[in-house]
Amino acid sequence: MTPLERALRDRILSEGPITVEAFMAACNEYYYATRDPLGATGDFTTAPEISQMFGELVGACLADCWARAGRPSDAIYVELGPGRGTLAADALRVIRSAALDPPVHLVETSPVLREAQAKAVPNAAWHDEPASLPDAPALLVANEFLDALPVRQFADGIERKVTVVAGGLAFDRDGEIVESSPARAEAVAKIARRLVLSGGAALIFDYGHPKSGPGDTLQALHAHGFAPVLDGPGEQDLTAHVDFEAVADTARKAGARVTAVVPQGQWLDRLGIAARARTLVMAHPDRSNEIEAARDRLCSPDQMGNLFKVIAIHSPAWPAPAGFET
Ligand code: SAH
Repeated sequence: MTPLERALRDRILSEGPITVEAFMAACNEYYYATRDPLGATGDFTTAPEISQMFGELVGACLADCWARAGRPSDAIYVELGPGRGTLAADALRVIRSAALDPPVHLVETSPVLREAQAKAVPNAAWHDEPASLPDAPALLVANEFLDALPVRQFADGIERKVTVVAGGLAFDRDGEIVESSPARAEAVAKIARRLVLSGGAALIFDYGHPKSGPGDTLQALHAHGFAPVLDGPGEQDLTAHVDFEAVADTARKAGARVTAVVPQGQWLDRLGIAARARTLVMAHPDRSNEIEAARDRLCSPDQMGNLFKVIAIHSPAWPAPAGFET
């Protein structure tokens, strides 16, 4: 039994069943605080860890948007849940080549990952949550951040809870599942309000669906495979698909502009990943297979290209970032 499982069982035995939301929050807080989950020896891999092309195109998109917004000299780079800092390092290299060297602000709670980020992005400032970010135009990115924030689940309209049955953890009910996420709504509302107030644009990548609808999307990832959700609390990554319609509604209500939701593969194609791959292959002919395989993994509809989506949220005073035309 994991240390967190023992604690959760004791909590349920004294307080009664806990919501799926409380369960997911407790598991992921412990999980991310105690390890670097990324890469071959971890539990999952993300787009920036697959290829530098991902972060570079993010950087190019943000730099272009900043240039069309009139090149505000006080702009900052902000990332939510930056993992190992790989995306930030790749994006900042391109942003700097566009003659902007923005202060870097990272929203990250995990001490283990903060340490990794400090190596990839020297001189960054860290925040526990978006509320303490400085008041400045922001070039913001979040990749696989919202999916880690807890969801509530309702089974046939009644909130689903985790209880103890025969000494083990179990759901208290099944039925048609509908999910909602106050934690995500709060995070999106905070960044949207900030963009409205101070200017800027945000790119939000994650797996999920463009329209709201019922469905149980809670899943656990362990050693690059799916695992039962209630197994090994705190030792596996718990995620739920992002409802992009809910994200867009929340941002719009906060006064921000939102773009269409675009599949990641299509967005990377529009931003010129084919040209970037060719340039990389010319510089590293020996790595041509690896570079093409990475592009395929990021873009193919049967790999990450369709399941992952991207939406942009921006200040009404800023233009929409490129790649979202319908
Ligand atoms: N963006 C990275 C990592 C994705 S994993 C990449 O693409 O590789 C999720 C990230 O969000 C981790 O850095 C994790 O520590 C962070 N995170 C999870 N929950 C968080 C929370 N509540 N507040 C801040 N960061 C959080």
